Amino acid sequence: MNKLLVEKSSGENINIDINGFNIGGKDKVIISGPCAVESYDSMINIAMRLKELGVNILRGGAFKPRTSPYDFQGLEEEGLNILKQVSKKVSMPVSTEIMDTRDVEKALDYIQIIQIGSRNMYNYSLLKEVGKTGIPVILKRGISATIREWLYAAEYIMSQGNEKIILCERGIRTFETYTRNTIDINAIAYIKKKYRLPVILDPSHGTGLRELVYPVSLAGIAAGADGLIIESHICPEESISDARQTISMEELKKIICSVKKINNVL
Ligand code: PEP
Ligand code: MN
Repeated sequence: MNKLLVEKSSGENINIDINGFNIGGKDKVIISGPCAVESYDSMINIAMRLKELGVNILRGGAFKPRTSPYDFQGLEEEGLNILKQVSKKVSMPVSTEIMDTRDVEKALDYIQIIQIGSRNMYNYSLLKEVGKTGIPVILKRGISATIREWLYAAEYIMSQGNEKIILCERGIRTFETYTRNTIDINAIAYIKKKYRLPVILDPSHGTGLRELVYPVSLAGIAAGADGLIIESHICPEESISDARQTISMEELKKIICSVKKINNVL
């Protein structure tokens, strides 16, 4: 088997600079925003609060991979437009999920980081397409992907020349039903020890329950995660999608404060 680009023996650890913030460096990156972009007004209000809290990167889905085709699918191009305007207004970089190879090129005009969602981790055409860009990529772990399959998905992107990959553990499907997914803390610690890429945790999709986001965020940071991606909203209960796992600005503030404390003792 060939040596993989993700392996530590292939080079230095990969750190990713986004607007002066070094992902994979000593500070923990905080990425936050609503599950879906809902409107300009709600996005700008959320973004202004996130900026005050010191959040580094905004998130918001314009293309939503919903289980049912009858559920809200996102504002699509209008959502990209809103993200671009809001990002400019608050001077924060923005990340959104791209699901279709045909949207990759277009997305580069609107956003600074592409997210590959869990359902698309095995979409090798999409991985190759984002690999041809130089844009940083958040690569979510597939819903039932092994660590090996996930790393090979990263390898697809890297083999095309783009090494700016942030792995994201977002929980995997297990026999457990009380929580939405089961977060694999082992994966975070394992990847940090053995591979070159930064890895972050998504405690929102990982748990599905807003009251678990705080404790699980801290567990991820303690295990070595380079940061967190968390769904937040001014009125979490009113979120159009994933309301049950979306946290308030107050809760996010608490998390950011505790993450700093934990990071100081790591
Ligand atoms: C998301 O982050 O909006 C999302 C859909 O996550 P995942 O792909 O992990 O389910
Ligand atoms: Mn969501």
